[in-house]
Amino acid sequence: MNREELHSFIKSSLAGKELIIVTNREPYVHRRKSGRIVVDRSAGGVATALDDILALTGGIWLAWGSGDADRETVDEDDTVMVPPDRPAYRLKRVWLQKKIAENYYNGFSNRVLWPLCHISLDRVYYRRRYWEDYIKANFTFTNAISAIVNDNSLVWLHDYHLCMVPGMLRERFPDLTVAHFWHIPWPDWDVFRAAPQAMNILEGLLGNDLIGFQIPLFVKNFLECVDEALDAEVDYENSTITYRGRKTFLSAFPISVDFEKFNHLSSAPETERSIRRLRRKYNLPAMVGLGVDRLEYTKGLLKRLQALNLFFEKYEKFRGRFTFIQIAVPTRLQEPYLSYQKSVETLISRIQKRFGRDDWTPILYISRKLDQKELVAFYRMADLTIISSLYDGMNLVAKEYVASQTDSSGALILSGLAGAAEELEGAIRVNPYDIENFADSINIALRMPREEKRIRMQMLRKQISDNDIHYWITDVLRSILSISGIKSAGCEYAFDRMDRILKRLARRKPFFFLDYDGTLSPIVDTPDEATLPPRMKRLLRELSRNYPVTIITGRTLDDIRKRVGIKNIIYAGNHGAEIWENGQTAHIQQPEQELFLIREVLEKLTESLSDIKGVYVEDKGITVSIHYRNVWTKDISEVFSRFWSIMKGYEGRFRVTSGKKVFEIRPFAVWNKGDAVKWILRKHGKGFLPVYIGDDVTDEDAYSVLRKRGITLHVGPNSKSDYYLEDIDDVYRFLSEITSLRRNRS
Ligand code: UDP
Repeated sequence: MNREELHSFIKSSLAGKELIIVTNREPYVHRRKSGRIVVDRSAGGVATALDDILALTGGIWLAWGSGDADRETVDEDDTVMVPPDRPAYRLKRVWLQKKIAENYYNGFSNRVLWPLCHISLDRVYYRRRYWEDYIKANFTFTNAISAIVNDNSLVWLHDYHLCMVPGMLRERFPDLTVAHFWHIPWPDWDVFRAAPQAMNILEGLLGNDLIGFQIPLFVKNFLECVDEALDAEVDYENSTITYRGRKTFLSAFPISVDFEKFNHLSSAPETERSIRRLRRKYNLPAMVGLGVDRLEYTKGLLKRLQALNLFFEKYEKFRGRFTFIQIAVPTRLQEPYLSYQKSVETLISRIQKRFGRDDWTPILYISRKLDQKELVAFYRMADLTIISSLYDGMNLVAKEYVASQTDSSGALILSGLAGAAEELEGAIRVNPYDIENFADSINIALRMPREEKRIRMQMLRKQISDNDIHYWITDVLRSILSISGIKSAGCEYAFDRMDRILKRLARRKPFFFLDYDGTLSPIVDTPDEATLPPRMKRLLRELSRNYPVTIITGRTLDDIRKRVGIKNIIYAGNHGAEIWENGQTAHIQQPEQELFLIREVLEKLTESLSDIKGVYVEDKGITVSIHYRNVWTKDISEVFSRFWSIMKGYEGRFRVTSGKKVFEIRPFAVWNKGDAVKWILRKHGKGFLPVYIGDDVTDEDAYSVLRKRGITLHVGPNSKSDYYLEDIDDVYRFLSEITSLRRNRS
């Protein structure tokens, strides 16, 4: 999907919903400059992409009004329409008193949470007033949000400045959909337990329905922190936390850049001219390296400089032939940043003194903020770029450099401790603490054959163009919408409504329909390994002695009969296309034409996907499943694009559903699970109350058929079932309660 397609997807999915984005920093700041009011636009990639989305959907952006002319430009609701040149959405400003803002922003946010989350514990500086004013500021944000939300609002909070807002909102609006994206890392419990107010922060965040992190490691760290600190149910498998009866979903959404924009800027003739100008202006040698960072201790600038020092010492032949350009943007102009800046500048002077010559500078230091156009010229020109973060949520510079490498001639040296390293294959990986190896890596990058650099860079470029910032937004919004759907459909936790369920069961005997994978048997990496846990098998035997039971699955009939192995059960395989009862096939559908077509699709998919590691194409006769659970994350988009390009040729012939890391392809002409349930009930179901438990999208057909006629339960979140169960243990508990009820009655 390109940007336009993603935008139209978002627009149609959001229909009737109002998106409220909440950040500390505003996208447009009004300032006074020489007596006039000017408006500055935040140039960051994320802010720009969110701005685009709101301009499209017309939601609201709420942020701290920090500009000195902000108050003069809002209406009586503290709101101003933006973007200024084509007003499309409302920017609502929150006002914070100077002292509160100082303690909230420079204090608790930047002197406590920032160093803590970046595992820089000795830089944590905590004062009680920081926390008190952080609470006050979060309360002010909460009040402002409360004044604008309604039943259709989706609130999307950003970052570490607003930890307490979700909890405060939740107290006021139990049903509101609230999501949070955490842009920086989340450390493990050993680090996080040092946080003053650790429990409050976790509790505050658990007011969210969804918390997004940059990479799976941070999700895992958060789950562990909650597990250690709070009396909560932590589900590591599904990444959910249930605390005080409420569930929070966690997921990783690696943030990205606007690939097309950097790509386009980089190929502009103007960029070529800028490069020539820069080379002349700074008298640059043939080879240049680049670093682009805020002057921020987490970026590992000192380690990078130590490595460069060693590099020039060890690899003499690069003296005079290679200059490293460090663009360093001064940031948060107070301690410990001022001391850090001093250390960086001292080290640069030392390197300069040691190696520099009249006609050559080893390190060119540019200490100011450049705009995107200027940056792109540096990105395009650099033979290598170094990211040396000691810990980093993602690191967008790494991705911007790759997106600007239109001729694929540069190399990326990337710290394994940056979030970006988790995704990006093709970079030269370094450990910034191992400066010897780091220095050698610079040498390797500079001597790397052109062809190898090209292959690596093209790999990197593909990963970023497939997963750009528009994809990121869509991915997050899709999750927010799905959670909001679950909430508004009122699907309740079965054990909270057991009284109601048992009342219905007291009137009529149940007729069970049970899905297999994910319902009776845990989801495993390869479908062949899925076995029925012995206690579940015992329970099924007992259940089937007292009630009619159907196992209904996407597996083939043969496979499921062997796996369960209980005689007096009805089996429905291939999503209902094959049914087995009383020791024989009772129904089978194999229309010839569909069989022919499915063979054709099977062959094409097998051939096309055969070189991607981890893909399993399962031939199930009249249906096909493509499992991608074991495919590397970086290859998944390739699986998708090849899959859809083949399926495009069969529109209208097959129903394609995507389940838990699997695509199911079924001919429209053959039965689905809903059809099978109808058929079985017509034959055997008179007087019974159907009870259906499933876990997958293919079970939804059955939920629709059974609406009002029976009881439907879904393992995990779903929008169409009557109730949900947390996991397989819950399924066991639920079925046990029903069997023991029967035992007690008799
Ligand atoms: N940046 C910029 N001008 C500069 C240096 C950096 O606009 O002179 C931008 C850069 O393009 C990138 C952002 O600052 O988008 C830095 O993001 P990153 O994730 O690398 O680090 P952060 O500063 O957010 O920790």
